[in-house]
Amino acid sequence: MPRSYIRTELRRLVAQRADYSCEYCLIAEENTPSCQVDHIISVKHGGDSTAENLCYACLFCNLQKGTDLGSINWQNGELVRFFNPRRDLWREHFQLDGAIIRSTTDIGEVTARILDFNDEDRTLERQVLIENNRYPSRAAKNKIG
Ligand SMILES: [Zn+2]
Repeated sequence: MPRSYIRTELRRLVAQRADYSCEYCLIAEENTPSCQVDHIISVKHGGDSTAENLCYACLFCNLQKGTDLGSINWQNGELVRFFNPRRDLWREHFQLDGAIIRSTTDIGEVTARILDFNDEDRTLERQVLIENNRYPSRAAKNKIG
């Protein structure tokens, strides 16, 4: 079986554990085209398909992330890893400012930039959801703290 294969029960566990919301941008699955199981460390880089290396991600975050692990901090040229939903606390790296997701650390900055959290359409979408009390999701409110 390929290392990228994820059993049905494991997919279910990941979705439930995330309370059916994207663990990066905090949008609920019901408010976005789809959520997918993401390998935090991609299979290409040796990540495995265990619960500890998986998270739930919306289609937009997952597509932008691809097999990347991080990006460059252009202020100092250093390589910075992405936010890891299994190890990091959302509120220690990001803040919600209306519909904008602001980063408060280098990890937050590269994650928000590469996953394109504040793309115009996505921000507008969050704005509408906020007005309808559907963002952040109930589960995500705990993460924001
Ligand atoms: Zn997302």
